[in-house]
Amino acid sequence: MSDRSPIDRLTAEQLLVAARDAATRAYAPYSSFAVGAALLTEDGSVITGCNVENISYGLTCCAERTAVFTAAAAGHRSIIAIAVTAPRLAAVTPCGACRQVLNEFRPQDGDLIVILDSLAGPEQVPLADLLPRAFDPIEGTGNGVQGTANRF
Ligand SMILES: [Zn+2]
Repeated sequence: MSDRSPIDRLTAEQLLVAARDAATRAYAPYSSFAVGAALLTEDGSVITGCNVENISYGLTCCAERTAVFTAAAAGHRSIIAIAVTAPRLAAVTPCGACRQVLNEFRPQDGDLIVILDSLAGPEQVPLADLLPRAFDPIEGTGNGVQGTANRF
């Protein structure tokens, strides 16, 4: 379970608003399944992403990874929370690949909070609940090489 306090409701709602806006820019001509994500970095930056599909389906990138990679490219290494939304499905959760990518950039002193767009409002779920026993060299479960970049 998380040892980080949940994100305050206003912040969670603001992240969901940003994620919904990002979903309007999804490039999803093949599935018509738009997804938006908005993450909050440790320094307070909000970075969004949308899914970007490709005719070669395996090249598609999820909204969460688009946001994480954008954040990483901007120099961010610690993500406190990420809101995820899909207009066609309530409370959509990140896929397994995105969960592992998110784990790479979770805060050093706590869990990353995933904010789902539930019908009842923002639903906060610790990443550790979505990705139990993650491959994580930080926790001593891997090879001790990967995943350390955001810890220095
Ligand atoms: Zn994904």
